[in-house]
Amino acid sequence: MTQKRDYYEILNVNREADADEIKKAYRKLAIQFHPDKNPGDEVAEDKFKEATEAYEVLRDPEKRDRYNRFGHAGLEGMGSDFGGFGVNLDEVFDDVFGGLFGGFSRGTRRAPKRGRNLQYNLDVTLEDVIHGKEVTIQVPRIESCPTCEGNGAKKGTSPVTCPQCYGRGQISQSQGFFTMSRTCPRCRGAGAIIQEPCRPCGGKGVVRNTHDIPINIEKGIDTGFKYQLRGEGEAGANGAPPGDLFVVINVEPHQRFQRDRNDLITSAKISFVQAALGGKVEVDSIDGKEELHIPPGTQYGAQLRIPNKGIPHYRRSYSGDLVVRMEIETPTHLNTEQRSALERFAKLRGESHQNEQGGFWDKLLGRQEDEESE
Ligand SMILES: [Zn+2]
Ligand SMILES: [Zn+2]
Repeated sequence: MTQKRDYYEILNVNREADADEIKKAYRKLAIQFHPDKNPGDEVAEDKFKEATEAYEVLRDPEKRDRYNRFGHAGLEGMGSDFGGFGVNLDEVFDDVFGGLFGGFSRGTRRAPKRGRNLQYNLDVTLEDVIHGKEVTIQVPRIESCPTCEGNGAKKGTSPVTCPQCYGRGQISQSQGFFTMSRTCPRCRGAGAIIQEPCRPCGGKGVVRNTHDIPINIEKGIDTGFKYQLRGEGEAGANGAPPGDLFVVINVEPHQRFQRDRNDLITSAKISFVQAALGGKVEVDSIDGKEELHIPPGTQYGAQLRIPNKGIPHYRRSYSGDLVVRMEIETPTHLNTEQRSALERFAKLRGESHQNEQGGFWDKLLGRQEDEESE
């Protein structure tokens, strides 16, 4: 990066120059270096941008004051539009050419301009992305007027070719030693003139409308998935193509299932006997019930899989798994017979339990008392 030049030096004015002198100085440079006059000349384009940046700062009293006090550093973060075209050239030239011209061809308001892109956030359910679904969304947008088909002329009439520019939208004008191409002031760049405007759109050629657009929610898509619908955005201006519509998918959380890529995660409660001995249980899947085989010795938190009962892979013929997390329930409210069976079981296992003589709990409590008495 080269050192930035001083703005006063760029415009060749002294530091006390008033607004009028600054404007005149800039105008001189803009005429000399404007890209339309120097096609393909990068040096001229850089000079034009440099002059425009300097003018943008020095014409603004607040920016000029900051620049005078702090130099270039004083302007950082002020959000200046330093693209080289931040200045409205019409405003600079209007008083010279007395409104003869509509402005430079760049940055004119009526030039063909592609329509804006639109974004639509679409909430879908987990079921939707498992089974796939057709939905219709209502998109409010600016559309080409259906009455006049976008040309702005009253039904039965059509726009006539502009007599000043012969439909080109631009006129060439000599001023002294140079020739500049400018937007036609008669048709404002459209190339045609509407004699009787279309009533529904007031001659603008566009109307605000809510449009029904069918969306095919495909199996397997996830939150953040984006559909790009070309040409379904807002209508373009002056015959330019429309923008695109982006439909951004959000898969809503499900009450019973979580998603992990293409797997569906759920949980099932089993008894500790089932966990120890193994068995069969019914678990909920997204479409109903599935039978799950529990192997003997299943631990709490174990994850058992039912293949192909998860979420379809996007544009594939197979699916992820249903993953079932095991929650083992401890039995409560035991009757005498159940209790003695468990006690017998514990004895066979050599495990201590509460009711055992000199059992685990007695020992533990006894030891604590001993410790307290010391
Ligand atoms: Zn219309
Ligand atoms: Zn014209």
